[in-house]
Parts: sequence; C-alpha cells; structure tokens
Amino acid sequence: MSNPDVLIVGAGPVGLNLGLCLLKQGLSFRIIDKKSGPTTSSNAVGVNCRTMEVWESLGFIDEAIKRGLKVHGTSLYSDSELLNQVKFDLIESKHDFMLALPQAHTEKLLLEELAKNGITVDWEHELTSINQSPEDVTVAIKHNEKDEEFSYRWVVGCDGYRSSVRDLSGLTRACHDLPLHFLMVDAEVSGEISTSTVNILFHDKGMIFMIPMRDSIRVVVEISTDEEYKHLKTCEPDTFREIIAKRYPKINIGRVDWSSAFYIHECLADNYRNGRIFIAGDASHTHSPMGGQGMNTGIQDTWNLAWKLGQVKRGEVADTLLDSYSLERRAIGHDVLERSGKLTTMATTTNPILKRLRNFGIHHLADWDIVRSKVANGLSQSNICYENSPLVKHEQVRKSGQLKYPEYQGDKWTLLTLEDSNDQLPSYIRMINVNQLPLHAHYCLIRPDGYTAMYANDITEIFEYFRKNHFNLK
Ligand SMILES: Cc1cc2nc3c(=O)[nH]c(=O)nc-3n(C[C@H](O)[C@H](O)[C@H](O)COP(=O)(O)OP(=O)(O)OC[C@H]3O[C@@H](n4cnc5c(N)ncnc54)[C@H](O)[C@@H]3O)c2cc1C
Repeated sequence: MSNPDVLIVGAGPVGLNLGLCLLKQGLSFRIIDKKSGPTTSSNAVGVNCRTMEVWESLGFIDEAIKRGLKVHGTSLYSDSELLNQVKFDLIESKHDFMLALPQAHTEKLLLEELAKNGITVDWEHELTSINQSPEDVTVAIKHNEKDEEFSYRWVVGCDGYRSSVRDLSGLTRACHDLPLHFLMVDAEVSGEISTSTVNILFHDKGMIFMIPMRDSIRVVVEISTDEEYKHLKTCEPDTFREIIAKRYPKINIGRVDWSSAFYIHECLADNYRNGRIFIAGDASHTHSPMGGQGMNTGIQDTWNLAWKLGQVKRGEVADTLLDSYSLERRAIGHDVLERSGKLTTMATTTNPILKRLRNFGIHHLADWDIVRSKVANGLSQSNICYENSPLVKHEQVRKSGQLKYPEYQGDKWTLLTLEDSNDQLPSYIRMINVNQLPLHAHYCLIRPDGYTAMYANDITEIFEYFRKNHFNLK
C-alpha cells in the first residue's frame, strides 16, 4: 500500500484541523502524536469568527456553536469601575461574536469529524528524524520503543512550541520572553461580572482577564508582587481566591476545576517552509494569549496551506505556489505577535500617564464605530487581505472593502461575473453570475480560501493573473 500524501506531526487543534482541510482537498494523510491521547485541559478558549467561517466550510459549525457559548463583547474595568463595554457587532461576518469553547472540546469535535471520515490519530507515535530529497521526505517514527522509516510527499509540523519538525529540518526562529507571569484557572465565579462578555480588569497589582464558558469561567490573573510569585507553581484555590479578592472584591471564586501558570514566550519562525517540509500553529508562532489569537492563527495557517497542497498535488499549478504559504502566513504571524504584545503592554502598564491615556481612550473612543470596528475586525482576523502576496491585487481589494467572500470558499477558485461567458475555464475555477460587483468591475476572482484575489473588467486579465502565477490553464 502506498504512503499517504502528507504526514501531519501533532494532533493538537492545528494538526487535527489540517487533517479536515486536507480531506476537503482530496489529499490522503496520516496524523501522529507522541502523547497517549488528546488534551483534557481547556487551554485555548476563544474561537474567532474567521475560524468559525472555516468550520462552516468544513461542515460542523452548527455543532461547534451548540457545544460552546456565544460571547458578544468585552467589558473593561479599571480599579473595579466599569470603563466601557465594547460590542463585537461590527465584526464583518455572520458570526459576529466569539465562541467560548475549551480546547479539549475543540479537539474532541475535530477528532469526531475526522472519525466520520474513517481517520484516527496514531497516538504514542513520535517523529524522531526527518530527511528530505527532491522526491520525498523520509521520517523515523518511534512507537513501542521501535523506530520505523516512512516516506511522504510532504510533512507538516503541527507539533507545537517545541516542534521537532522545525528544529530537525533546520527551520529557525527568533524568541524572547516577556517579564510577565500569570495564573489561570477555570472556576465557578459569582458576583459583579458579565457572563455574556469577556471581562478585562486593569489593576496595579496585576490585571484580571475573564472569559465566560458554558460550565465555568476562565480567569487569568497577572502576578506581579514577590509575595504572590511563590504561589506560581502550586496555587491552592484559597490562595487564588485571596489574590483575586485583593484586586476585585466584587466577585467570589467558588469551585475550581483546573489551574495552570504561564509566562509569555514571543517567538516567530524565520520561514514556515523548507522544501517539502512545512510548519504551522505554535510550531511557527507563539505569543501572548491577550486577544485569544494563538489557536485561531494556527487554524488559519492550515486553511491557507491545504488548498495550495491540493492544487500542486493535482498538477494544476507549479510547486512555487507553496512559497506563498510562508510569505502570507508569516506576515500574519508577525502582525499577531505585534498586536498581542501591544495589548499586553497596554493591559499591564503601571505607568500613570499610559494608564490615564488607556482609560480615557476606552471610556471615550471605544464608543466610536470606527474604533470599535477596527478593534473587533483586527482581533477576529477579519481584516486580513494578504497584502504582501503576489496572489492578491491588494490595492484594488482594499479599495473594494470586500476582502473575503466566505460564502464561496471551499476547494475551488470562484470567478464572479456580471455577464454570461463562453470562455473555457480550467476545472479548478467555477464561474458564478452575480448582478453587481464592487469597483464597477465585471469580474471578481476569489481564492479557494475565500480571500479576494482581484477585480477585472476583461477576462484576459484573469487569465494573465493565473499565467503569471504559474497555474496550468489547460
Ligand atoms: C495553559 C494554556 C492556556 C492557553 N490559553 C490560550 C488561550 O486562551 N487562547 C489562545 O488562543 N491560546 C491559548 N493557549 C495556546 C493554545 O493552546 C495553542 O496556541 C494551541 O494549542 C496551538 O495548537 P497546536 O496544535 O499548534 O500545538 P499543540 O496544541 O501544542 O499540539 C502539538 C502536538 O504535537 C505533539 N508533538 C510534539 N512533538 C511531537 C513529535 N516529535 N512527534 C509527534 N507528536 C509531537 C504534542 O504531543 C502535541 O499534542 C494556551 C496554552 C496553554 C498551555
């Protein structure tokens, strides 16, 4: 039996999601993970609208929404006083909310979706070496103390922060740690707290961040005093209650389900591709959890990579298309690191001038639609248009205001047109008639991942685009 096209290393949310994206593209794959089973802790909680749009295309968004909790905005407090409530209703998506779904539930759902297609994860299988040739990638996989060799056309490392795929294949990254420490618990919380919004409380002793979930509330608290540091490793529920009471006495912490401590590593890989080897998710980027971008960014990496692998496999385009994966997604990783770093600095500052500016901004500017829209669309990753990519005519696309068409995303390119046409198109493009297009254009070309590629008035411009990007037009 021949080996599958792709080996996915790591069955966290990113590796599992990649499997589902590859299924949509008709590629065969195997998923391995060195652990004995999926995560049981809640880790990443916030699912953003762009991830929901992907899950809609993959066919299980209704089930995800059923299992999660819709969160509609953010309540911001300073020293116990409410500064403002910022709603998410200006997110440019039909999913104009955040879905609170603990990572263990996300992984369970993704595993169930894979199982419906007969795919299971090979648990307790660890990648231990990797070598590539122009034809394939050979890996050693350790199972039951034995190493066995296999070859695949491509290998994708979704193997997290300590990625072996990244390190063994010579991909490098730049890292630095932020001097901030946090405690995180999932607990029953009562008192003055909104259960339909995220709650962010700024405090000189250290900020608190609370996300409502179905059965409990995720509470993250910044630890900034020497007295509290000693509790970082083992924090008893009563100590945690005291830490919270010192900052925000208006809530009570009841039952504690889970706790963990963390500090922030900011890392970004220099390249997400080395030949036939790719990395995605935490293997490529890690950053502050402020803004809930980690898992969501990884899921978008896989959505970007899968259709490109599909087209290359089917011989519809040259292998050079795969370079655009790192080009496009690394730029997004860079932006996410920068944005989440700034948010963290803003939320944790004790500088009196910065604090006053922050609180003034939240109190007054956050009511302006233009500010709310920018923040909400930025955090939900709805404002992406891959402006550094040769695959997007970004000036046109920005001007049109229509950066993506999630309703058309899937496995093919879509050409929206105002007029019937007899032009013969390759099988990977479908044509759809519409009544109106932005910029008074006659054509709008949409990538398989839903992002707008270009507008045109003449079909020859569309053919020229594909030719220039090395697509096979027969
Ligand atoms: C306590 C905690 C809280 C968090 N909270 C948030 C949050 O609120 N919001 C947010 O966005 N993010 C949060 N994160 C980060 C989020 O969990 C990650 O961004 C997300 O899990 C990344 O998914 P991944 O699939 O890339 O990597 P991982 O989830 O790390 O999965 C990698 C998998 O690869 C496997 N693996 C590693 N090496 C090998 C190998 N050599 N062979 C085979 N398998 C291998 C591992 O066993 C693991 O299962 C949190 C993380 C933690 C730990």
